[in-house]
Amino acid sequence: MWCQKDITSQLNALGVRQGDSLLVISSLRAVGETVCGASGVLSSLLEAVGPNGNLLFPAFTLSNVLPVTETGEVFCSEDERLASALMTPFEPESTPVDTNLIGILPEIARKHPDAYRSSHPLFSFTALGEDAHFFVRATPHHYPFGSESPLARLFQKDGSVILLGTDYSANIALHLAEIWAETPYTRRSLLYRTADKRTCEMMGVPGCRAGFGRLEPLMNQSRLQRIGTVGSAKCRLFSMRMAISLATTYLGGEPSGLLCRNPECSRCTTARKLCGSQDSSPTDTQ
Ligand SMILES: [Zn+2]
Repeated sequence: MWCQKDITSQLNALGVRQGDSLLVISSLRAVGETVCGASGVLSSLLEAVGPNGNLLFPAFTLSNVLPVTETGEVFCSEDERLASALMTPFEPESTPVDTNLIGILPEIARKHPDAYRSSHPLFSFTALGEDAHFFVRATPHHYPFGSESPLARLFQKDGSVILLGTDYSANIALHLAEIWAETPYTRRSLLYRTADKRTCEMMGVPGCRAGFGRLEPLMNQSRLQRIGTVGSAKCRLFSMRMAISLATTYLGGEPSGLLCRNPECSRCTTARKLCGSQDSSPTDTQ
């Protein structure tokens, strides 16, 4: 069983430093048993970046809205009817994050007394630390992972990303590169209905991440990420600027390069058509 001190030492060994701004994408299941649970891991992260550092977490709430068709009708499966009955209007201060989607640590961070959260009804972020407000204030509704998003501010701040027990298929940071590389599929929009029965449109829907692992060999070849262990979890640590610069260049040459190759993935199949490329590469095994 890991104690808080172990986790802090392992974060330091991985390369997390005082004053860092760190986007945390986590799976505590991979970290294993810890003495103080999720709040202990959060304390270790806070200790590792210190009083002048910042932590940023995804705080997504996708189960709090319903996707609708262009004519405004809800896609009505029984599950969605049930979900609709449980939906509540989004309140940054109180709406829980989708822990099924992004794990328990972002929910613990959201409840921290010093946490700030952005106001996006689907793709909000929570920030803790000296510049927490900078990361989450006045973020855009359209293109929630693009310019002026918390991800762009992490880039601006020369922050880092830690994949804490997660792999590239959870690496939401790369959505910024998809937008900055102007990949055609990032211009898609989504219609959704909120708990108070409003229908909204959002431009810049993030796509599938199952193919993001294709960037990892390039990151390793370019020595752009550090790999280590935190608790029992394999972790990757890399600079946001380096990763986004590499991914933007990669996508500039091959706009469909980070789409997955699962023939049953409708999002990537449509996205590939928008990129105008027929990808004949072998099917992904992941
Ligand atoms: Zn896909």
